[in-house]
Amino acid sequence: MKPIYLDNHATTAVDPAVLDAMLPYFGARYGNPSSKVHAFGQEAADAVETARASVAALIGADPREIFFTSGATESNNLAVRGGARSLGARGRHIVATAIEHASVLEPALHLQHEGIEVTQVPVGSEGIVDVAAIEAALRPDTVLVSVIAANNEIGTVQPIAEIGALCRERGLHFHSDAVQALGRIPVDVRAASVDAMSLSAHKMYGPKGVGALFLSRSRRPRLKPQPQAEGGGQEKGVRSGTLNVPGIVGFGKAAELAAAALASGEPARIGALRDRLLARLQSTIDGVTVNGALDHRLPGNLNISIERAEAETLILSLGGSIALSSGAACAEAGGKGSHVLRALGLPDTRVYTALRFGVGRYNDQTEIDSVVDAVAAAVQATRARSVRMSP
Ligand code: PMP
Repeated sequence: MKPIYLDNHATTAVDPAVLDAMLPYFGARYGNPSSKVHAFGQEAADAVETARASVAALIGADPREIFFTSGATESNNLAVRGGARSLGARGRHIVATAIEHASVLEPALHLQHEGIEVTQVPVGSEGIVDVAAIEAALRPDTVLVSVIAANNEIGTVQPIAEIGALCRERGLHFHSDAVQALGRIPVDVRAASVDAMSLSAHKMYGPKGVGALFLSRSRRPRLKPQPQAEGGGQEKGVRSGTLNVPGIVGFGKAAELAAAALASGEPARIGALRDRLLARLQSTIDGVTVNGALDHRLPGNLNISIERAEAETLILSLGGSIALSSGAACAEAGGKGSHVLRALGLPDTRVYTALRFGVGRYNDQTEIDSVVDAVAAAVQATRARSVRMSP
């Protein structure tokens, strides 16, 4: 049997229409968009600009505000490290939440070696940051605030519009990592008053290795991140390097499809599947608890802890029939368990029994029902084994 894919927060399948759009740019349309003196380069440059417009439209931005990168890791590094360095003369303090992705937290923490301080704002047990807690963390020397739009483990959606308004009022720059939100819930850079936003194609049925950084043109002073790579000056010098034309074309197509999917009710369909998954898991397995607020959550996300069923053992018991991950995917680094689940204040028993399900575009009800049966059987096997193994 083909494994069932429920790990859509790790990555998503490339939509066949995205692949079709990309293929010509691996073949006859191989021009370099920076070399526009001939038709090859012009064709590639036109394709890049079409994609830029599609990505911009998805978040309510102007195409001139979109800078293509190699993915959101690069975008987050650019925004946080590059942003903080460029604002260094105005102030040397930045604020982020405790449930940011590593590609925000790591560069933020490294800035401390340069004398830029970072405050990590805790979240409540529901996994939602309180706007008042962000406000309390602000200091006279704060220059940048970074808040993830939707978390990649527990799917909680943060109040970025309120935080954006607060930052605007205080004259601070605001960055949001919107990777997991993009294409899953509406994202609008103006409504959220963001000055910088990180995007990635591969979480929205586009290709891996391509993303973008939105940088607001209307904001004064503009956020102009120090570049991480200097060279040919592509992307207005924000990100030098020959553009990944096939990837960018795929990202553009994925953005178009995402806009259409949002308009045609895909989130509601996926949300209904997620609700069915939770209801059935809870009715067949005892000791299932949801991690983080169930409302204010991405429609396809479910993160649960299953009592007396250690997640890694349970995933092994599934024998590869279902692709999902434990909530503690980042646990390998230091074995401390997921920093996100820790930030909710969960004890070890919840952290090490956490499973993350990510329902996506290609899942259906039959798959959801098979997953419940398989997980229930695996829980039984895991619990039986731990009973046998305990003294
Ligand atoms: N931010 C979040 C919230 C993510 O989930 C991911 C992907 N795991 C990233 C950033 C990094 O994106 P990319 O894979 O494009 O580097």
